[in-house]
Amino acid sequence: MMDRYKKQRLRMVDSQIRARGIIDEGVLRAMEKVPRHLFIDEGLWDQAYNDNPLPIDERQTISQPYIVAIMTEALELRDRDRVLEIGTGSGYQTAILAELADRVYSIERIAALATKARKVLDFLNYYNVAIRVGDGTYGWREEAPFEAILVTAGAPHVPKTLVEQLAPGGRLVIPVGSRHTQDLVKMTRGSEDPSDIKRENLGGCRFVDLIGEHGWEAYV
Ligand code: SAH
Repeated sequence: MMDRYKKQRLRMVDSQIRARGIIDEGVLRAMEKVPRHLFIDEGLWDQAYNDNPLPIDERQTISQPYIVAIMTEALELRDRDRVLEIGTGSGYQTAILAELADRVYSIERIAALATKARKVLDFLNYYNVAIRVGDGTYGWREEAPFEAILVTAGAPHVPKTLVEQLAPGGRLVIPVGSRHTQDLVKMTRGSEDPSDIKRENLGGCRFVDLIGEHGWEAYV
């Protein structure tokens, strides 16, 4: 017996994700599996599989499913990869990463969000996720280097600290631009020549601010 959220989830992946050209089987399978509604308030569950971002606590948002798919596909994850995520938020994207990688290290600056995300991830048995509260623009030096780094908040520029924590062959995906609109940028470190850093633009997007030492200043 399939629950109604599972049905909505399969429809979401078909109409919003596959239909728009995402072909990575791992990404599609992960998004069919992870119960997105559990990462938002119960009052919004009937909107959980809609084609848009939704509010979470602390004036932050859970990203649109398609954006989650594009970013995850761009990371080209293999099951032995260690991933750093900046901006845990609801923890939904964290769960998708945890499905595809060996370990996920996620940093969130707002403690209340980190606590809530931890609870849901524990409930769903994602034991390969470590969450830390702090300014993620410094990265996570003790656990570096990472095969993949994902930033899920909009930055004024690519923080050098994060590029430095990429392993040879590693990929960094980050929204870069103004506080209103950004481009999704992918940086790839060469596997033969680690000093060779390639930069690509994956298209427009709109995220909440990355706030921190190598991000935006917090509004007072
Ligand atoms: N992937 C999340 C996105 C949440 S919105 C989801 O889909 O639910 C972005 C998150 O980044 C917010 O929770 C915000 O508090 C957090 N954030 C912003 N700047 C940060 C920083 N410097 N370090 C860590 N987290 C940060």
